[in-house]
Amino acid sequence: MVPGARVVVVGGGIAGLTAAFRLQQAGCDVVVVEQSGPEQIGGRMNTTTRDGFAIDNGATLLLSSYHEMLKLAVDVGVADQVLPTGDIFGILWNGAVRRLRSGDKRALLKSDFVRGLNPIDGGKVAVDFLRMRSKLGWDDMTATAAQDFETVREYCLRRGLRPETYQFLLGPFTSGPALADPEEASLVSAFFAFNTIVVSGGGFTSADGVGFLPRALAARISVVHHARVTSIETRGGGAVVTWTHPVDGETVQEASAVVVAVPPKQATPMCPGLPPALLDYFRHVKYSRAVHVAFGLDRPTRESSLLLQIPKIEHPTLAAFVMEHNQAPRRVPAGKGLVMAHLRGGWAVDNWEMDDDAVVEHVIGETRRLGVLPEIEHHATFAEVVRLPLCTVIRRPGEYRYAARIAPVLRAQAPIHFAGSDYLGQSSTNGSLVSGERAAAAVLKGLRR
Ligand SMILES: Cc1cc2nc3c(=O)[nH]c(=O)nc-3n(C[C@H](O)[C@H](O)[C@H](O)COP(=O)(O)OP(=O)(O)OC[C@H]3O[C@@H](n4cnc5c(N)ncnc54)[C@H](O)[C@@H]3O)c2cc1C
Repeated sequence: MVPGARVVVVGGGIAGLTAAFRLQQAGCDVVVVEQSGPEQIGGRMNTTTRDGFAIDNGATLLLSSYHEMLKLAVDVGVADQVLPTGDIFGILWNGAVRRLRSGDKRALLKSDFVRGLNPIDGGKVAVDFLRMRSKLGWDDMTATAAQDFETVREYCLRRGLRPETYQFLLGPFTSGPALADPEEASLVSAFFAFNTIVVSGGGFTSADGVGFLPRALAARISVVHHARVTSIETRGGGAVVTWTHPVDGETVQEASAVVVAVPPKQATPMCPGLPPALLDYFRHVKYSRAVHVAFGLDRPTRESSLLLQIPKIEHPTLAAFVMEHNQAPRRVPAGKGLVMAHLRGGWAVDNWEMDDDAVVEHVIGETRRLGVLPEIEHHATFAEVVRLPLCTVIRRPGEYRYAARIAPVLRAQAPIHFAGSDYLGQSSTNGSLVSGERAAAAVLKGLRR
């Protein structure tokens, strides 16, 4: 039944595009339905260009631990575009930058950063992290359910860790990558970030930013753009998908199976026939909001790190800076610099309506106050504000136990299959890619049966 079976994939992010590519490889007749235009392909893994700079609008760090993504790049035929990145991460500590090289374990242990931490605390965190590490799945973290009962802050108090371990280690690893508050987020989130960033040893990108992969995938499959899916119903063992397009109007498409690869919140209105317990879970998933500013510079920064994390004690509203020019030599035009300044998730919620000029002014003024990256004030040729209402999931304690109860219901909805790491895991590009592959395998299994 597989050859020629019609499958509709809803959503052209990395989860949906991966699912579609794998299904097409297996002989299915696949169409991806995406609400945005071709320039936004990839969803939260999207790159646009401005003045010759490739600006990653969402995800920007692809890490060496993303083995599945590197394998997909090979299968798609774009492995030659992959550029390895540097592995220097920085953290602001009492006004000065401490750096560590994640790829070199000996240098890591001797770094100012690790030496600044209390060794007993370091030992406790290492033991707890290693206990959880094997359960930190890419797209499914429900194996951590038994250890998911406390926030990062509560964990530090329970283990009697010193304030600096919270402020400079576990806090930034929660608020930087997940834009979540360590007083709200589960410890699991911090260990997930720790696992992907510190233990990875550098990463990869392309001269065209992270969007090279979604673009390559989209070029190999059929994508209907500007088409918003409004409903998915099951009928006679298959499904019927309805979408609207500004020019073509409404399309009603029958399919043998559907992959829903949109965030759970966006899946809720299109699938009203799902079990109420599943819809309740979808509504419950909480997201951070992202506001960040891309600064195009006429020179690179003196700062050599790839990612500079700003602990909350150092600054209340700036979370992190990504120095794109430090990713790889060809990542930005020769002799130029590109800095992404990320504001904290809480600030983004409170100041969502602030106009772009005021956001840029805030970032420049506060960066000056921090005493880092003077280039963004004196050498910027443009500043572009990016806002994303659904950034990454914020997992609060107990949510992986909730997800573990829901997982069997989620997986029992064939011919509707769900893809995206936001369903049962922590948001990441590789997690969504893995879940897209998992959804494709489930579709094929169902079709063969
Ligand atoms: C600011 C930011 C920084 C991040 N940094 C990193 C990072 O450095 N490294 C990392 O690995 N991850 C990072 N992430 C997380 C990562 O980007 C996401 O987890 C991942 O890209 C999600 O992919 P997805 O395919 O599951 O969902 P999405 O990318 O959200 O794709 C869903 C797609 O569905 C479409 N859609 C929604 N509703 C409909 C509808 N009704 N009809 C048709 N189409 C619809 C959307 O337009 C979108 O294109 C970051 C995210 C953000 C926002």
